[in-house]
Amino acid sequence: MKARVFSGVQPTGNLHIGNYLGALKNWVEIQGNYESIFGIVDLHAITVYQEPAELRAKILEIAGLFLAAGIDPKHSTIVVQSSVPEHAELAWMLTCVTPVGWLERMTQYKAKSQAQETVGDGLLQYPVLMTADILVYQAAIVPVGADQAQHLELTRDIANRFNSLYGDTFVVPDTQLPLSGARVMGLDDPTVKMSKSAAGSGHAIALLDAPDVARKKIMRATTDSQPHVDFGNLSPGVLNLIDIAKAFEGWGTVQAHSTFDGMRYGDLKKKVAEIVVAHLEPLQKRYAEIMGEPGYLAGILKEGAERVSPIAKSTVQLVKERMGLY
Ligand code: ATP
Ligand code: MG
Repeated sequence: MKARVFSGVQPTGNLHIGNYLGALKNWVEIQGNYESIFGIVDLHAITVYQEPAELRAKILEIAGLFLAAGIDPKHSTIVVQSSVPEHAELAWMLTCVTPVGWLERMTQYKAKSQAQETVGDGLLQYPVLMTADILVYQAAIVPVGADQAQHLELTRDIANRFNSLYGDTFVVPDTQLPLSGARVMGLDDPTVKMSKSAAGSGHAIALLDAPDVARKKIMRATTDSQPHVDFGNLSPGVLNLIDIAKAFEGWGTVQAHSTFDGMRYGDLKKKVAEIVVAHLEPLQKRYAEIMGEPGYLAGILKEGAERVSPIAKSTVQLVKERMGLY
């Protein structure tokens, strides 16, 4: 039997090259080796207000992008989180074994709550729901970007705590980071990770950005006052551009060095833009084809929920038995 994989994306904002290189690209590469479940985690999206019609449209857009990026419904299941109610049901059971101090320590909670006038309880609870997303399928491996490593530590802590309180119940999952592209930084500010929710038109390259838009964003990316690439002294902005190229092309250090060392920043940006656009164009073409097929995505999502529901139901049943629930 193949080990099970779970990972997900929130249907908020525009999916960007960080999401692709940190998560999707890796999912596509490993999907054949595992029983893979990829979630569109809409219950996470509502931790901050979402316009309902926009959220509904985003869910389909993300599903379309999963397929366009190469997720193959023959190997993998795509599921919308809210269509399998056991995610939320298990989250409550796990909330009850999670000390609030564990949640308050989360870096992402601290960062995201600072930006809000009033902090919804959902923002604090988010990592418990994420834990439920993973544990409800008894996933053994969770391929994510580096920003999620801390939440995955918490997932293991919660799983272990539950197992020690109620007896062996959950598979304790491992984190899998991609070899490159695990943490793509903002083009406008290479000291923060690229995020869907960050403001600023030059911050992220969306997977659906037109080639000219993507090129312009890269040409305007923050670098430093040096004239050219010096591998002995790479500033965060230059390092980020090189890392983006390496991750898209699957290059190692030697190849990046021979391509970029000594290159003027203007030429570096042109080259990186060329690489990014060459990868985005075919993805965008497939996306347009997928979205042009009426009913196709709805069918994939319905089938996805049907396929994984029995796994989620049996986990919740087991948890109920372990906890003494009715
Ligand atoms: P948001 O700002 O809404 O949280 P996000 O860009 O962080 O958006 P998520 O939906 O939270 O996107 O994350 C989806 C996946 O993409 C996760 O596996 C996450 O680790 C990965 N990821 C997010 N940002 C980056 C990044 N800058 N570099 C690499 N991977 C990333
Ligand atoms: Mg995020």
